Amino acid sequence: MSYDDVEIEDMEWSEELQAYTYPCPCGDLFQITKDDLRLGEDITRCPSCSLYITVVYNAEDFAGSTSKMNLEPSKQQPVAVA
Ligand SMILES: [Zn+2]
Repeated sequence: MSYDDVEIEDMEWSEELQAYTYPCPCGDLFQITKDDLRLGEDITRCPSCSLYITVVYNAEDFAGSTSKMNLEPSKQQPVAVA
């Protein structure tokens, strides 16, 4: 069972951990990275106990940043081989 549902806005971004964090009642922190979010991960488990939270977020907010490179028009020309 999930301990709680937490909005991403209610989590705190940690530059040190490069992850969104949320305090666990045991004193440790739930952590979820942007990579996790990009992959559609929405559950993060406390590293110190068995509790976990469901992160509520808009997947499109994170998915967009990975597809930028795919928007580059392909400039590849057929190479003439002698
Ligand atoms: Zn905990």
